[in-house]
Amino acid sequence: RWRGAAYSNVMNFMEAYPQARQISLIRNYRSAQVILDCAYRLIQNNNPERFEVKAGINKRLTGLQGGGAAPQHLHFDTHSSEADGVARMIKEKVQSGDYRYRDFAILVRSNSDAQSFLQALNMQAIPWQFSGNQGLYSRQEVKLCISFLRVAANIADSMNLYYLASSEVYRLDPASLSLCAHYARRRNISLYEVLTRLVALEDLAGLPDAFKDKAAAFVSDLEKFLARAPRESTGRLLYGFLTDTGYLKGLTSVQSIENETKIQNLAKFFGLVQEFSLVTKEDRVATFVNYLDLLIDAGDDPPTAEADLDTDAVNVLTIHKAKGLEFRVVFMVSLVQGRFPWPRRRQPIELPDELIREVLPAGDSHIQEERRLFYVGMTRAKEELYLTSAADYGGSRLKKVSQFVSEAMGKPCEEASKQKASALEAISRFAPPQESAAPAAGSVASGRQIHLSYYQIDDYLTCPLKYKYVNILRVPIMEHHTVIYGRAMHDAVTKYFLFKKSGKKVELGDILEAFRQSFDPQGFLDIKHQEERSRKGQEALARFFAAEEKSKTTPVFIEKDFSFTWEGVRITGRFDRVDQGPEGTLIMDFKTSEIKTQKDADKRVKESLQLDLYALAYQSIFRVLPDKVALYFLESGIIGTRQVSDDDLGKIKDNIRMAAEGIREQRFAATPAYMACTYCAYSQICPSSAGRE
Ligand code: SF4
Repeated sequence: RWRGAAYSNVMNFMEAYPQARQISLIRNYRSAQVILDCAYRLIQNNNPERFEVKAGINKRLTGLQGGGAAPQHLHFDTHSSEADGVARMIKEKVQSGDYRYRDFAILVRSNSDAQSFLQALNMQAIPWQFSGNQGLYSRQEVKLCISFLRVAANIADSMNLYYLASSEVYRLDPASLSLCAHYARRRNISLYEVLTRLVALEDLAGLPDAFKDKAAAFVSDLEKFLARAPRESTGRLLYGFLTDTGYLKGLTSVQSIENETKIQNLAKFFGLVQEFSLVTKEDRVATFVNYLDLLIDAGDDPPTAEADLDTDAVNVLTIHKAKGLEFRVVFMVSLVQGRFPWPRRRQPIELPDELIREVLPAGDSHIQEERRLFYVGMTRAKEELYLTSAADYGGSRLKKVSQFVSEAMGKPCEEASKQKASALEAISRFAPPQESAAPAAGSVASGRQIHLSYYQIDDYLTCPLKYKYVNILRVPIMEHHTVIYGRAMHDAVTKYFLFKKSGKKVELGDILEAFRQSFDPQGFLDIKHQEERSRKGQEALARFFAAEEKSKTTPVFIEKDFSFTWEGVRITGRFDRVDQGPEGTLIMDFKTSEIKTQKDADKRVKESLQLDLYALAYQSIFRVLPDKVALYFLESGIIGTRQVSDDDLGKIKDNIRMAAEGIREQRFAATPAYMACTYCAYSQICPSSAGRE
């Protein structure tokens, strides 16, 4: 099986579908021929349990990439000298000027193999990023969120309270905290109770005053969140915790791969919280915690955020995580028997062969599967492949080089010629572990197309750091009430036009219902503000309905997605509405911002780069410019219209070019400006903000 898929499905495909036509895909665009040959030699050892043999076809790959170096096996005396040797080679290659750090991958069979290599990279001050098999829930930053939510749902949950109190957010002294936890256990009360009564407890009177002060601040913080929990959605409460405690700001203030990874994992966890809010009627922390427990009990543990391959850092990955990726130089490490192939693990409940429906391969299926995994690792390399091993990984016995190494190299391994670490390296290994060095500024790998929408271009040109927060790190934010209101209005108007376009009769009640369904009552200043916006929205929709019912125009497109490529940039977006009438083609975008006069509407239309981009999109797709573009301000019913000139198109092209260049070059320095920062959703956590406090 390959990650749960039955291998026999492929093997028996032709028997099940004898009419199927076979096409062998043997051209390989990634790896040099010498690497493909080596991998092919290895996989032959799975014969006859291979599709090539069973089907009698030729699956020998032909590499279309020229060049490349013959794969090498490097054998070291100890695991640490292996790690140091790999780090040193990477350093030397980068210093030669022909490589960047991101050209390298160190592939490990399991998470535990990575540690020595990360440490060796640290010693050489080489930036790295690690993608292991660890799931999202095991990440420290996500555990912090889960602990907070569990405590908010049940303050008597002493275990999670302990974790939260000792976390990097509150940093209560672990020794004193343990005494409190012990006291609580002995008296069968919760840790929370102990912390709230700390000053009055004689048995704990000897605890340092500094600890007592911190504990009091912690309790007061918690009480604030507990008071909010019954009123707020899970996402909002969690977001409040991350921002009010300064945790998110701490992550954005210090630029490091580690911090960026944490932010991305938090964003993934927020995605989960959001999914929950979409399927539940009661989005409160207690129900979310029940839901999360069910997910975890069912074995759910989503993958962590993917490493950003454009970051100029060495990628340390498990082979499973490397599937589908490619690197100029690959080191497959710790290649000894017992580590790769990984020892066979017995299933918790062994299924008798007679009960397995699929046809089991002959021979040792575990070794065959490990060999296929080894093959996957080898074929991640484009130009150079190094297979490394060591004799001593600790323990009483020396290790044997993996059988896969000699199978791939086509000759027995030369274990006698071991490489050794220098004495200095051997001593330096005991230095305390550091975080990865900061990545050097890099650029998007050449030849890779970038994808942009109008909003991404606008974000980048407003402030490159904002673009990075939104699109790369995906720093979680709570939706602003204007966004919620705008979406509800948009959904209602779209529903109206879709009905109209399909010839169905639509009533005002239908669109008001669509508005109410999309109107999420979160994020408004207070209940009065929320009711006011809801009322205003419904009044505006009633006016819109009356005006549109009199109109003879039926749009040709509503919510029409578009995409086109311009100078290597894939631009995507959506036309809200396109009309075609006697006066030609009109592209219209709906807006919910407050515009009260025709003069203001005309000014907004004149300045709208978004409309220029839509005109460019229309021209690229339909080979003709639209006759007019317009903004329809739904609140007032005012429509501003204009034509698009060549100058306008030139302006938007310059903007696309500028944004694309900056993004390709990975230039994300902040460009703070008072207005931009005041309206930026990240102003609270951004270290460069120039907005209002
Ligand atoms: S707050 Fe200002 S400087 Fe920071 S990301 Fe937003 S716009 Fe840029």
